[in-house]
Amino acid sequence: MQKKTVAFSKSSSNLFFHILTRCNLSCAHCYINPEQHGHQTLSIDTIRRWLGLFSPVASRTNLIFLGGEPTLHKDLPAAIKEARHLRFKSVTIDTNGFLFHNILEKITPEDVDVISFSLDGATSATNDDIRGQGSYDAVISGIHRARKKGFSCAMIYTVSDKNLHELWKMPDLVASLDIHRFFIQVIGMRGKSADRRTDTHQVSKGLWLSVIPEVARIIAETGIIVTYPKVFLETDEAFTCAGIVADNYFVFPNGRVYRCPLCEDYPLHAYTIRKNTLVPSPPVNESHLFDLTIPEGCVMNKIIQPGNLDYLADGTPAHRIACCMLKQELSRTV
Ligand code: SF4
Ligand code: SF4
Repeated sequence: MQKKTVAFSKSSSNLFFHILTRCNLSCAHCYINPEQHGHQTLSIDTIRRWLGLFSPVASRTNLIFLGGEPTLHKDLPAAIKEARHLRFKSVTIDTNGFLFHNILEKITPEDVDVISFSLDGATSATNDDIRGQGSYDAVISGIHRARKKGFSCAMIYTVSDKNLHELWKMPDLVASLDIHRFFIQVIGMRGKSADRRTDTHQVSKGLWLSVIPEVARIIAETGIIVTYPKVFLETDEAFTCAGIVADNYFVFPNGRVYRCPLCEDYPLHAYTIRKNTLVPSPPVNESHLFDLTIPEGCVMNKIIQPGNLDYLADGTPAHRIACCMLKQELSRTV
């Protein structure tokens, strides 16, 4: 078993491109916030121009098409082909499984590196309670159809106290689905749903550490690569902020471009796309937070989720919170 922390690097870049915010579902933990991210569906001309802004770094940039639900965009196939034409390092679609507009008939496994399906429970009862009626069946059927056509598939499981217990059932399920990668995410206080919630549904540090690494290990034993957020730093581990040492861009249809996903609920974006140019935002923006050093680790975590932090009797933090972009990766050694 190989376990590694996936370090940030300026030599590799990720472009998370939200081409619309519309969605057919209304998941309990959705981070999309139309007030901050816009209601627009970008035209294919705009998508092409905005992809072009990143073409100088395309060969080292992993591109992820997101929404809302990106397959609701009728021109997603054309956007994918443009991305291939510009030679992005990899192209991924993140979908809720409904695969609108017959997307699987309009693209080929050569066009996309991965189709990533979101599932938040090992049973339809748990998943559909979180993600909406019919979404479990849509994901299972979508993965079967995509695999039959030769697409490489991944799954994203967002852990909360509503579905942590079903994570133990996921090794058997994912093995039966013949997927290639499994991503575990942690629920965060983001998006419109954050306003609605009275209970965060976040799991405790003890539960996270007792369940996630072990389930990840079991799934990785089957040959699937598993990735999960580090969340808590070891005492001897240095804290680093991806906003400083990595090259990530989160682009929304209203033109806002963030460098940190935790900042997405606020008008703190580092750039705005105006007239098809990437324009730096005036101070204060998220970039001015990245340099701040605090004993708790991530500054934005302390600002938006202070309840996640515990302190010792002497006032020092009981643990430091890692950058949300810092991941652990497990794979079977061959
Ligand atoms: S989490 Fe994804 S699938 Fe669910 S409502 Fe939000 S955009 Fe749609
Ligand atoms: S999550 Fe925290 S550490 Fe990571 S980029 Fe944002 S502010 Fe920096």
